[in-house]
Amino acid sequence: MNLRNIAIIAHVDHGKTTLIDVLLKQSGSFRENQRTEERMMDSNDLERERGITILAKVTSLEWGETRINIVDTPGHADFGGEVERILHMVDGVVLLVDAAEGPMPQTKFVLGKALKLGLRPIVAINKIDKPEQRAEEVLDEVFDLFAALDANEEQLDFPVVYGSAKQGWMADDPSGPQDSMAPLFDLVLKHVEAPKAEEGTFRMLATTIESNPFLGRILTGRIVSGTATPNMAVKALSRDGKTVETGRISKVLAFRGLERQPIEKGEAGDIVSLAGLAEATVSDTLCAPEVKEPLSAQPIDPPTLSMTF
Ligand code: GDP
Repeated sequence: MNLRNIAIIAHVDHGKTTLIDVLLKQSGSFRENQRTEERMMDSNDLERERGITILAKVTSLEWGETRINIVDTPGHADFGGEVERILHMVDGVVLLVDAAEGPMPQTKFVLGKALKLGLRPIVAINKIDKPEQRAEEVLDEVFDLFAALDANEEQLDFPVVYGSAKQGWMADDPSGPQDSMAPLFDLVLKHVEAPKAEEGTFRMLATTIESNPFLGRILTGRIVSGTATPNMAVKALSRDGKTVETGRISKVLAFRGLERQPIEKGEAGDIVSLAGLAEATVSDTLCAPEVKEPLSAQPIDPPTLSMTF
């Protein structure tokens, strides 16, 4: 199956949750009770207290022959290093902006990081149904923001859709057609590159960590090369190339809709969660035992998991 990995960048309340719900619904991957279950799983207060949980919230849906992994990005500046690591998992971003409010601080903060990483955003002007919408002006503000953030020429040449996540439509033109999210899906398929799926030995950069009462430590990231299967021998290399741990993968989990499911094989390019390692942590390279070099250390801040409460 074809694959795309994207992140949605939005200031709080600009409609990210509504957008993801409607994308799920229109792609046929939605089940009514999922959203509430996920919200309950989110409130993992115990883990947050211990300071180790930054969940990789990934929603995965199918549009035609393509699976699209949508990664959530925290918008707050406290999660600066986190945002960069997460953006390393994706090949494109959708910048969602409220058609009345225009770009806001979180829009700017995360967009700046995305542009620096060379990602080419797709702009979606949302809430066009609001009487106070001022879509054309907001588009100008978005363009000015790109320029102020030193976007390159390619990035400045961003595609735009307008619409209403609430009403379930996005279109190339503010006036419609007002019937589906297809134009946004089409832009994602057209403008975002498929992940490079390298063959060879298994390597993945652990991007987020969480603790699960049944599975233990769960590390999530994008498989850079090779495949991951349950029971496979792996090791974790720290950024300076030291072996942190050798062990076995107990479970490979893939994202499906708003849930995660065990799978038999994680493929290169996909974003998966692995259980089975106890010591490995964020920024470690999880890899086949014969791998010598960690994946290139990214210029990122120390993981926020060292935050003390
Ligand atoms: P998030 O914080 O970015 O996840 O935003 P939500 O999806 O929770 O939306 C915030 C509020 O904006 C909610 O009350 C939504 O119903 C509303 N909203 C989202 N999309 C639209 C839209 O297209 N039009 C209008 N009028 N309201 C919207």
